[in-house]
Amino acid sequence: MADLKKLLVIMPCYNESEILPITIKTISSLMNKWIKEKKIGEDSRVCFVNDGSIDQTWKIISQAVKKNKLFCGVNLSRNFGHQGAILAGMYDNQADIYVTIDADLQDNPECIVEMLEKIKDGCDIVYGVRRSRKSDTWFKKWSAQVYYKFLNLLGVNVIYNHADYRMMTCRAVETLKQFPERNLFLRAIVPLIGFNSAQVYYDRTPRLAGETKYPLKKMVALAWNGISNFSIIPLRLVTFMGFFLCFLAFVFLCFVIYRWSVKGTIVGWASLVTIITVFSGVQLVSLGIIGEYLAKVFVEVKKRPLYIIKEKIG
Ligand code: UDP
Ligand code: MG
Repeated sequence: MADLKKLLVIMPCYNESEILPITIKTISSLMNKWIKEKKIGEDSRVCFVNDGSIDQTWKIISQAVKKNKLFCGVNLSRNFGHQGAILAGMYDNQADIYVTIDADLQDNPECIVEMLEKIKDGCDIVYGVRRSRKSDTWFKKWSAQVYYKFLNLLGVNVIYNHADYRMMTCRAVETLKQFPERNLFLRAIVPLIGFNSAQVYYDRTPRLAGETKYPLKKMVALAWNGISNFSIIPLRLVTFMGFFLCFLAFVFLCFVIYRWSVKGTIVGWASLVTIITVFSGVQLVSLGIIGEYLAKVFVEVKKRPLYIIKEKIG
């Protein structure tokens, strides 16, 4: 069975001490089953990436690695964020096939078998896609729907209801390394790689323990990365808005001159103040958008590392 592939399951972990014991049990029994059924090679492994947790996460990972040769661990020097942690796991380990999955296993890990089938059929990337958003709050459901539609409108190619549960071949991961961006939004970068891809559908279950590590602030930051890293349409919109307002100003000026020539009176103070306020507001927003893009360039040119590894075990 020399052609059995080495699978590497990558799990980013940030303060996951509550759920990790459950996750470790579930994933090790699944992996052992798949190895026994000869679906994956015996050298397949699970890599836990500790993303600067401040709880017992690294201790739990270290103990698991000591007890079971199936596991290995990467400890980052600080919190780099989910996307950086995923890259650390993929770029710092050798395997034939990589799969990234959240440490809370909300995304059904049993789908890995189906994903492997797609790889066997010649795909290089397999996206895990949520069948529905039943386990989400109404706010997350609604905001996600609006966001995905907005991204498509702006011409950003993302797969609806796919987050970061995906399988990639070694070739796809090597190609991903050619994308040197610092502002990470992997779900829009990966489709740019090309190659054959497929989708696998699953139902997302609620978190069994611990709480979400994606508070609104992180969610909004990631969402803005998705827009500003892949679309320049907001900048273009600012230009159009500028032209439109110049046109409006011209019409207003004509109106003022007309009033002055016909009635000899000046147009009311209130309308003037309103117009000044509106124009200043639009100008500030426009400057803000341009500033946001400039900030992105600022971050990109510095080329700071996406992650720093403190230690590796297993
Ligand atoms: N995560 C991480 N670094 C962070 C935030 C989150 O590595 O700064 C990991 C977290 O441990 C989990 C995954 O990213 O494995 C997704 O987080 P979570 O399950 O809390 O997100 P949600 O499912 O609520 O969107
Ligand atoms: Mg989760």
